[in-house]
Amino acid sequence: VKFVYDFTEGNKELKDLLGGKGANLAEMTNLGLPVPPGFTITTEACKTYLDSGDEPAALRDEVSAHLDALEAKMAKKLGQADDPLLVSVRSGAKFSMPGMMDTVLNIGLSDTSVQGLAKQAGDDRFAWDSYRRLIQMFGKTVLGVDGELFEDALEAAKQAKKVVVDTDLEAADLKKLVTKFKKIVKTEAGRDFPQDPREQMDLAIHAVFDSWNTERAKLYRRQERIPHDLGTAVNVCSMVFGNLGPDSGTGVAFTRDPASGHQGVYGDYLQNAQGEDVVAGIRNTVPLADLERIDKKSYDQLMQIMETLENHYKDLCDIEFTIERGQLWMLQTRVGKRTAGAAFRIATQLVDQGLIDEAEALQRVNGAQLAQLMFPRFDDSVAVGGKVTRIGRGIAASPGAAVGKAVFDSYTAVKWSRSGEKVILVRRETNPDDLDGMIAAEGILTSRGGKTSHAAVVARGMGKTCVCGAEELEVDTKRRRMTVTGGHVVEEGDVISIDGSNGKVYLGEVPVVPSPVVEYFEGRMHAGADDADELVEAVHRIMAFADRKRRLRVRANADNAEDALRARRFGAQGIGLCRTEHMFLGDRRELVERLILADTDAEREESLKELLPLQKQDFVQLFEAMDGLPVTVRLLDPPLHEFLPDITELSVRVALAEARQDPHENELRLLQAVHRLHEQNPMLGLRGVRLGLVIPGLFTMQVRAIAEAAAERKNAKGDPRAEIMIPLVGTVQELEIVRDEAEQVIAEVREHTGVDLKLALGTMIELPRAALTAGQIAEAAEFFSFGTNDLTQTVWGFSRDDVEASFFTAYLEKGIFGVSPFETIDRDGVGSLVKSAVKAGRETRPDLKLGVCGEHGGDPESVHFFHEVGLDYVSCSPFRIPVARLEAGRAAS
Ligand code: PEP
Ligand code: MG
Repeated sequence: VKFVYDFTEGNKELKDLLGGKGANLAEMTNLGLPVPPGFTITTEACKTYLDSGDEPAALRDEVSAHLDALEAKMAKKLGQADDPLLVSVRSGAKFSMPGMMDTVLNIGLSDTSVQGLAKQAGDDRFAWDSYRRLIQMFGKTVLGVDGELFEDALEAAKQAKKVVVDTDLEAADLKKLVTKFKKIVKTEAGRDFPQDPREQMDLAIHAVFDSWNTERAKLYRRQERIPHDLGTAVNVCSMVFGNLGPDSGTGVAFTRDPASGHQGVYGDYLQNAQGEDVVAGIRNTVPLADLERIDKKSYDQLMQIMETLENHYKDLCDIEFTIERGQLWMLQTRVGKRTAGAAFRIATQLVDQGLIDEAEALQRVNGAQLAQLMFPRFDDSVAVGGKVTRIGRGIAASPGAAVGKAVFDSYTAVKWSRSGEKVILVRRETNPDDLDGMIAAEGILTSRGGKTSHAAVVARGMGKTCVCGAEELEVDTKRRRMTVTGGHVVEEGDVISIDGSNGKVYLGEVPVVPSPVVEYFEGRMHAGADDADELVEAVHRIMAFADRKRRLRVRANADNAEDALRARRFGAQGIGLCRTEHMFLGDRRELVERLILADTDAEREESLKELLPLQKQDFVQLFEAMDGLPVTVRLLDPPLHEFLPDITELSVRVALAEARQDPHENELRLLQAVHRLHEQNPMLGLRGVRLGLVIPGLFTMQVRAIAEAAAERKNAKGDPRAEIMIPLVGTVQELEIVRDEAEQVIAEVREHTGVDLKLALGTMIELPRAALTAGQIAEAAEFFSFGTNDLTQTVWGFSRDDVEASFFTAYLEKGIFGVSPFETIDRDGVGSLVKSAVKAGRETRPDLKLGVCGEHGGDPESVHFFHEVGLDYVSCSPFRIPVARLEAGRAAS
């Protein structure tokens, strides 16, 4: 195997091997763009190093060969005394992990070569500044010295000179600082700062490998669901300098606005600075457009390159560049992260530009982004005043509306959010150590840094609201407060609101309004209308692409006309699950209680008689709302205890009545019955079809209500398409009994109404035994609907009501699963049962209709699975329907 690739050897498809940065540097090199020469060490080398604790045997020689070639190309040697070649050693994994891993710049400087550099550059200050940066970065990341020690020494040097910015330190000051830094290294690391350039390089490479497994990198990967075994590549790149004076600088740019998708000039530029200064958001940058005035030639060239990149990648790209004395260099590009709204807009814009087709456009967006766009926003029309004061405006870095208590450090953010508080993390600027706090917070607010600062990039990646660079805010982390130009003081715990779509920051709680995307789905805003917003247009078009592509139909889980109508507006093609137990709550609960506790047939029949017309009316309304579309009505399912009085409460009532010698015959009778029916494991107890078989007349009452409602709708010239579904079936015998009874009832209704009724009868597959005997069950069922909630519960043996609160966090932390199996279908376990049941069911009955109605029906990843195994439809809650439609379209394209 080959462990090292020259930039001329790779390409953008090799991300697995070369990491994102390396693959794209190679791509740019081969496009003929100005990339400083260099080479990439593969992720394979990293994996070997991490697995065995040592680099692969061949690596050293390969690196030597590539270094020789690089030195020949640059006509100077690494660390050469009179004119040193300097290199950067940068991490670069397959997926970008902003700021998570290590980078060391200026490798090759030493006590001697710093003199050579000074002479070559004609700039003492620059050379000594580069050297002190090397010792600082190397000391911190390679030798593990506490970075604060260097920061403090730098600060002390500035104070001694009574200056504020680094650039006011002169060569002599920096020279002294280098001596100081070397001392820090010696005491803290117990060794001298290495003078041998190759040793510097090798140690830096190992440090980058090691940085893959730092705690914060692991946390980031868990959060972003990046596999832990990918490893990172290492890029060794010849240095170019943005800190050589005013005709040098460094910047970041986007080929389009990552927040809106609009084409234009977007980015930040910092004159006389080295790469990390911009991303770290330490000094304030100027807008990229200003570069035209500062250096027109480089600006024009950059615009040209950005166009080339967009046309080549056919997507929004972000770029890091450096200008060294008027010469432009590209240091990085990649397909850029973007906000959810921008993703939709960019996808349609690219279709209009003819760069991509509809199927590709669907791959450029996803259901999670759509879900995010459906979140409510701040109500702009609310006059600010009274309880809400606008206290600042920063950069709209990541959209959304977040309200919470201000906290000024990550630790407090985590602590407070654990106890159920909503918090906004407020920092001057964030760094990778703030990751926990950012995850815990509703939103992030910083007073420094631009759209490409750490806070902005990470928040966008997480889909979390972020406002950054709100300069009116003076953040005082030590005193846990911020002061606002103009006088307001915000203390820890004060409620603030931040708007990531326009950058506004408020003291107080701003009310929120629905998103325009929801208004559109609700039919209150129309695509094509004059006032329709661009986002709505884009969503409208993408949804049309998805609907044209998808094979899966999408139904809703809905139990009443209101939800059914909303589902219909959102694009539901029927109801996949009407949970009839939801129709027995409120006033009707008592009727059910009487039914369950009935001692005699007469009592039972009495309560059934009362329930029948109520049930029928429910169905009439539902069938009317869903006229012309299938409605799957599931017969009563829930565990009994949900309908019975609480046993403790009842015992107390009886005891009190006894003590007072009040009459309490009824309570006592009830208590005895409740005791009789009490179950240790209600979820595995008398529920679903078991209830129907044990309580005579219950299911037949429901079937009668459905049939009569359908007949009534038919008589009213409606088009009811009812389907009757039996829950919790484990064996075909259960189903056969219920089916025979149901058919008899339907025949009766047919007879006495004279309406020709066709009601499909099917079952849920939600027990392992049902899945395992699906071939037999299909004999008695016209359709299956996979109840993946109960199926997950029973296949794993996890109580669906308890686990999330008990041991799931530990499981997630230990990486036993990356996401709860109740959220995303467990393909290997539950999924394989679904797959085999589909096959067996269709073998018995080729026209068997197949769907899913567990929560997974609205989960993006799971939708792809259901598409793959060949279900006919997914059913999910009304609000998830657009997401399911989109993902079904994506799965099919
Ligand atoms: C299921 O078990 O997946 C299901 C849809 O039924 P319920 O959630 O009502 O148990
Ligand atoms: Mg169930």
